[in-house]
Amino acid sequence: MPKYVYDFTEGNKDLKDLLGGKGANLAEMTNLGLPVPPGFTITTDACRSYLADGGFPEGLAEEVDTHLAALEKGMGKRLGDIDDPLLVSVRSGAKFSMPGMMETVLNIGLNDESVVGLAKQSGNERFAWDSYRRLIQMFGKTVLGIDGELFEDAIDEAKRHKGVTNDLDLDASDFRHLVEVYKGIVREHTGGDFPDDPREQMLLAVRAVFDSWNAPRAIVYRRQERIPADLGTAVNIVAMVFGNLGMDSGTGVAFTRDPGSGQQGVYGDYLQNAQGEDVVAGIRNTVPLQELEKIDAASYRQLLDIMKTLEDHYRDLCDIEFTIERGKLWMLQTRVGKRTAAAAFCIATQLVDQGMIDLDEAVTRVTGDQLAQLMFPRFDTGADRRLVAKGMNASPGAAVGKAVFSSERAKEMADAGEDVILVRRETNPDDLVGMIAARGVLTSRGGKTSHAAVVARGMGKTCVCGAEELQVDPQARRFTAPGGVTVEEGDVISIDGSTGEVFLGEVPVVASPVVEYFEGTGGHDDDLVKAVHRIMSHADERRRLAVRANADTPEDAARARRFGAQGIGLCRTEHMFLGDRRQLVEDLILSESDRERDAALDALEPLQKADFTGILEAMDGLPVTIRLIDPPLHEFLPDLTALSVRVALAGDDAGERDRRLLAAVKRLHEQNPMLGLRGVRLGLVIPGLFEMQVRAIAQAAAERRAAGGDPRAEIMIPLVAAVQELEGVREEAERILDEAGVEALIGTMIEVPRAALTAGQIAEAAQFFSFGTNDLTQLTWGFSRDDVEAAFFSRYLDLGIFGVSPFETLDQTGVGRLMKIAVEEGRATRPDIKLGICGEHGGDPESVHFCHDIGLDYVSCSPFRVPVARLEAGRAALTGTGSDSR
Ligand code: ADP
Ligand code: MG
Ligand code: MG
Repeated sequence: MPKYVYDFTEGNKDLKDLLGGKGANLAEMTNLGLPVPPGFTITTDACRSYLADGGFPEGLAEEVDTHLAALEKGMGKRLGDIDDPLLVSVRSGAKFSMPGMMETVLNIGLNDESVVGLAKQSGNERFAWDSYRRLIQMFGKTVLGIDGELFEDAIDEAKRHKGVTNDLDLDASDFRHLVEVYKGIVREHTGGDFPDDPREQMLLAVRAVFDSWNAPRAIVYRRQERIPADLGTAVNIVAMVFGNLGMDSGTGVAFTRDPGSGQQGVYGDYLQNAQGEDVVAGIRNTVPLQELEKIDAASYRQLLDIMKTLEDHYRDLCDIEFTIERGKLWMLQTRVGKRTAAAAFCIATQLVDQGMIDLDEAVTRVTGDQLAQLMFPRFDTGADRRLVAKGMNASPGAAVGKAVFSSERAKEMADAGEDVILVRRETNPDDLVGMIAARGVLTSRGGKTSHAAVVARGMGKTCVCGAEELQVDPQARRFTAPGGVTVEEGDVISIDGSTGEVFLGEVPVVASPVVEYFEGTGGHDDDLVKAVHRIMSHADERRRLAVRANADTPEDAARARRFGAQGIGLCRTEHMFLGDRRQLVEDLILSESDRERDAALDALEPLQKADFTGILEAMDGLPVTIRLIDPPLHEFLPDLTALSVRVALAGDDAGERDRRLLAAVKRLHEQNPMLGLRGVRLGLVIPGLFEMQVRAIAQAAAERRAAGGDPRAEIMIPLVAAVQELEGVREEAERILDEAGVEALIGTMIEVPRAALTAGQIAEAAQFFSFGTNDLTQLTWGFSRDDVEAAFFSRYLDLGIFGVSPFETLDQTGVGRLMKIAVEEGRATRPDIKLGICGEHGGDPESVHFCHDIGLDYVSCSPFRVPVARLEAGRAALTGTGSDSR
């Protein structure tokens, strides 16, 4: 019989898969001897079994009973006891934290009888009835699925009736009355009574927590954060401790360092006489944690000690939840806390300086996604800006967009291609869709630990919160700022998540200091830049993968080199056929004799040579992989419809050239251009085309060498599916190179499944392989990317056919399998074959890890992603765990 329930004394922080993050860390704190209320955790195994079968697995209820009995014994109280009841919370907690996505019910165990016992025992009737109404409210919403607004409205009504605005002004009889009203709401909406059997309450709450794993907002959040859908959640049952017992009680949240900047200090919020979520829900204003020193010095000092213990133990920034019950401190949660990208780099190097971790570990503590965020532009402080308000700098970034006041509008407008800023009084989990769609989030209430701030930081989305001077009116879709400035839906605003400033209109942006550092134009004195420099240098030292860039122009090549590229993995040549040169390509296609064709090619050749010379010069001493022309030729001709119309309108006056052009366009027209006359097929069918390109490369290299340079051209043949295709082209190319007296590697892209499957043969003719994973993904799945992404990818994501688009992150199971075959068989034929990837996946963190794992020599990506790939290659070498790059 599997074990489904673990007491807190039985778990530890490494059991997150089984106990969830919350449960594992509660167990860890318990075993560190910290004051955690006793409790136990129901495993994620039990949840998965429940979700699969729709019922509790056999033995679970009995195991829960056994642990509950032990809990009751330890506490000296019984659940539901009418004199001195034990109360518990039933809390969700998955492996990865999903703030506010899932459910928790507090005060389980109260009913009409035990509430009296609780009042007597505590000597505080108000507290007892407040706890009871909270139970019905949370249980009603979470377990019974009743709209939470109904309960909120009832409490607002009670306040109005009494003429007060603060919940602290409601007394015992008000809450007793509310309990009756709440029970009425339950009856009206479920047709049944609020369950008064404590054990039934508990088991129903456990079910509800299991079910909340598949709540729509949880699904949306998981997709955004790339959390697997099949993990399930654990459930924690914890003895209640009470922050709502009076002003000597309270509840709070804290960070051991500033999650915004990484600075060490005391960061957090505290609320007296309050329970659970009151702190983050913004019902009353919290006080900064420092003020706890004046309210309860002993608890404050103990809390700081515990925070130090936790930091030393986890060797990282931790965030915590705590409650003080009549002067006694209780720890309710901790975890390694989310932080901004800048804080992640700063904290990692601080921890190195403090001797807590080494540089290897520091590299694993940051991610390529975080680095990418630091490379986003910032607002230009020198520009003319109109400041309308200032809130808290909750999550950095410079976001510009049209103000919208609801999540639905945000999604609608974003889907229509608009940049929007979601403006709310405060956000709640139902706003997730809008937050994802928006460029940034602005709220008028709540602190750095509010829902908006926590979720935005987690997503790396710009957020300004608690801009209290703003009057946000979601119904009227507008906000007003001091001085009477009004912003309506659709008006453009700019928000600065690093300073908390809100501006009217669009503020221009400038490059981030991190980009200036990579460019070599900025200083090194900024703390963040220093941290980035240290971590990047160490990642470079540790990585095995080389990083190249995809670049087609000398300017891009030069930038890539400044960003640390060790060569070019893909230089496309097709843009060299556009613009003024289109005419020459038309001549080539229209040529009716060898002479005409050669003339067209002869005219193109010097132009191509000049292109290559520029790139080889920018990348002097480093390899430059030049891919011969790949797209079908008709892409260089006028559009069929436009040309037909032109010829038809001109009638008899239509020029001879247009007529011939139209005939050629018709002749070259393809049903499936992606599968048509392109790549190596062009080289084999159009005499002289590839030869011209190879000659241009050879001469460019010879010229560079004569000028004292060190050109390292590599010639790459696209779309090869059979070794025979490559052989002919290769012999010809070798002859041309010999004639020019230059050397260059000759290889091929692996982008057709057949190429991967016959890589052993192809390697006989290829000195290198470069995986063209865009086409390889298209051809493996049988997807035309341009057609499918808009047409049905969102449905596929909904159905869970894939968790993330295979065009963003390599499909390791399918496409990756082909790559592994090609790597293995290619190396078997030619042990020193060079292996790389030049699809867009080369800059995707998870895919970089995969490329490391299967033993490629390099990844190649767009110049701007080069630093990201360098960092992820370092992380891959250090973690050695494959793809969990989160
Ligand atoms: P979340 O994952 O959304 O933070 P939690 O399970 O942590 O949800 O619980 C919600 C709130 O209730 C938190 O503020 C937490 O500290 C508080 N809470 C949970 N269990 C208890 C308990 N046994 N006693 C007192 N407060 C609790
Ligand atoms: Mg919590
Ligand atoms: Mg291709």
